[in-house]
Amino acid sequence: MAKLLSGTWVRDQLFEELRPRVEELRRRSRPPGLAVILAGSNPASQIYVRNKVKACQELGIVSETHTPPDSVSTEELLALIETLNRREEIDGILVQMPLPPQVEAARLLMAVAPEKDVDGFHPLNMGYLVTGRPGPRACTPAGILEMLRRYEIPIQGRRAVVLGRSDIVGKPMALLLMHEHATVTICHSRTRNLAEEARRADILVAAMGRPALVTGEFIQPGAVVIDVGINRITDREEAIRIFGADSERMQAFDRTGSALVGDVHPVEVAEKASAYTPVPGGVGPLTIAMLMANTVEAAERRLKACSG
Ligand code: NDP
Repeated sequence: MAKLLSGTWVRDQLFEELRPRVEELRRRSRPPGLAVILAGSNPASQIYVRNKVKACQELGIVSETHTPPDSVSTEELLALIETLNRREEIDGILVQMPLPPQVEAARLLMAVAPEKDVDGFHPLNMGYLVTGRPGPRACTPAGILEMLRRYEIPIQGRRAVVLGRSDIVGKPMALLLMHEHATVTICHSRTRNLAEEARRADILVAAMGRPALVTGEFIQPGAVVIDVGINRITDREEAIRIFGADSERMQAFDRTGSALVGDVHPVEVAEKASAYTPVPGGVGPLTIAMLMANTVEAAERRLKACSG
């Protein structure tokens, strides 16, 4: 029987380790401060931001949320970021994606002061990642690495396959695994024979945004499978393919008319893998925990820079 890798368990550990660090910062100067920019009215983004703010409250991190309307311009957001860059009590700035279509996202990401870039998306911090220098790492891949470490899953010398090459998940994940001495393959929408590539993996990370695309034939028996995908499905036929007609999850689907699924087929992964992350409850909690860790680290670095 495959082992379930719990993101909640790892998140709770990370929070326990962060609490005394927040307390120490508070004692020596002030609590860490995170500013979140939530532009427009995307319902999923609103939920993500609410969860991030809640995590801040749990840890004693001071947070503030800026909510400019859907019609906001790039210039207005740049001005807001400039103000936040200058404010002494703000250690981290997070620009929630996706942004309204008229906004030039790349310009905003460049404008966030690299030392306040708690998402690790600034090109300077991406460069630090590529070259293996310290700096904030993208939260989701960094959280996955924490999870592999804490479950004592060996990485060195193992074959890792990352499905997806986005700047926020796939690319940084592949680089982090490479720095941990895995032999890494990156796959994407033009990869030929995706299942065959995936089947070579000792550690398989799926980050494509394609509901349950990774079926049993993608998984080497005994592989460790990390499912990053978060997809909401509303099609009943698709739900039956994924959950099975008589399952509890299908009953829940029929009650609510939708379900959250990852990129990995939840039934087939349990039959083939040695360990895997469920959706929900796997990678999701790690992302927020690493955002908190990056904010605390940014505050510590700034305090050190001031006092040193
Ligand atoms: P993107 O859409 O930015 O990237 C998707 C990647 O998957 C692309 O590189 C794309 O290839 C590749 N891809 C898409 N379809 C296929 C296919 N059929 N075969 C092979 N490759 C494919 O997504 P993100 O990286 O932002 O997110 C991926 C998933 O992870 C989403 O479901 C998202 O919701 C979830 N997510 C979850 C988080 C969490 O906390 N759990 C955090 C962040 C994301 P190409 O480059 O060729 O287009």
